[in-house]
Amino acid sequence: WAKADGKARWTLFDPERNAHRMTRQALSSTLRPAVERGEFVLQYQPLVGLVDGVVRGVEALVRWRHPQLGMLPPNRFIGLAEETGAIVPLGRWVLGTACRQARLWQLAHPAEPIVVSVNVAVRQVWDSDLVSDVAAILAETGLPPRLLQLELTESAVMGSAGRPLQQLRQLSDMGVAIAIDDFGTGYSNLAYLSRLPVSTLKLDGSFVRGFRAEEPPNPADETIVEALVQLAHRLGITVTAECVESAEQAERLGRIGCDTGQGWFYSRPVPADSISSLLTTGVRP
Ligand code: C2E
Ligand code: MG
Ligand code: MG
Ligand code: MG
Repeated sequence: WAKADGKARWTLFDPERNAHRMTRQALSSTLRPAVERGEFVLQYQPLVGLVDGVVRGVEALVRWRHPQLGMLPPNRFIGLAEETGAIVPLGRWVLGTACRQARLWQLAHPAEPIVVSVNVAVRQVWDSDLVSDVAAILAETGLPPRLLQLELTESAVMGSAGRPLQQLRQLSDMGVAIAIDDFGTGYSNLAYLSRLPVSTLKLDGSFVRGFRAEEPPNPADETIVEALVQLAHRLGITVTAECVESAEQAERLGRIGCDTGQGWFYSRPVPADSISSLLTTGVRP
C-alpha cells in the first residue's frame, strides 16, 4: 500500500504489475527502432494436407529477438504494434522476408508449390496501402502471387466496406489468396464472408480441441464442423484446421473433409532452414 495524496486516498501498489506496465511502455517505444535494427525473426509452421500428408504451405510467425528480454512471442508485442502503428513497418518487413524465403523454396522445389501464409493486422488493411506494398514485394522477390496467402481475422474484414474491401478485391484479382484466421471466434458468418474474396477459412483451434481421442467425442462438435466444411466447399472455400495436436484429430478432421491441418502433430513453428529439410524429407502422413 502506498499513500497517494497524504489524505484518505490509498492506492494499491503492485510491483509486479508496475514492472509489467513499464515493460509494456519500454517495448512500445522501441518497436519501430527494433524493426530498423533487424531484431525480428520469422518462424514457419507447415500447412499439411490432412489426407495425403503433403506440405502445401507454411504460415510465417514473427518473433522478437529482444537484446535484453530474449525471444518474445507475438502476444507480447503485436497488440502494442497495432496500438502504436508500428505494425505497418513491421508488417511490411514480415511480408518482404516471408516472400523472399518463399521464392527460395519455390526455386529449390519447383515441382511442389509451397504457399507462404502471412498474418495481416487490421491496421495494415485500413490505414496503409497494402495493395502497393504487396505488389512491390512480389515484383521485387519474383514470387508468383498464387504462392502468397494473407491471413486476416474476422474483425479485420467485418464491415470492410469501402477501401478495405477494395484492397481485398484488388489483392484477390492479383491472384493472392485471402484466408480468414481463427474462424469461428468472431461474429461473422459464412453468408457474409462468401461475398468477400475469401479462398480459405482457418478453423480456430477451439473447434479442433473437441477432436481429441482422450475426450468422449462430442457428436455436436463434429456435426458442426462437418456442416461448416460442406458449406465452405460449396462456396468454393477450402478449410484449414488450426491446432492439430494428435493423429486422432488429424484423422477425424480429414474424414469429415477438412483440407489442410496445422499444428504440433505435424511440426511446431521452426526456422526457415528446418522447413527446407522438411520439404526434402516430408512430414508424417
Ligand atoms: P495465429 O495466426 O492464429 O497463429 C497460430 C498460433 O497457434 C501460433 O502462435 C502457433 O505457434 C500456435 N500453434 C500452432 N500449432 C499449435 C498447436 O498444435 N497447439 C497450440 N496450442 N498452438 C499452436 P504464435 O506464433 O504465438 O502466434 C500467435 C498469434 O500472433 C498468431 O495467431 C497471430 O494472430 C499473431 N501473429 C504472429 N505472427 C504475426 C505477424 O507476422 N503479423 C501479425 N499481424 N500477427 C502475427
Ligand atoms: Mg494466422
Ligand atoms: Mg490462426
Ligand atoms: Mg489462432
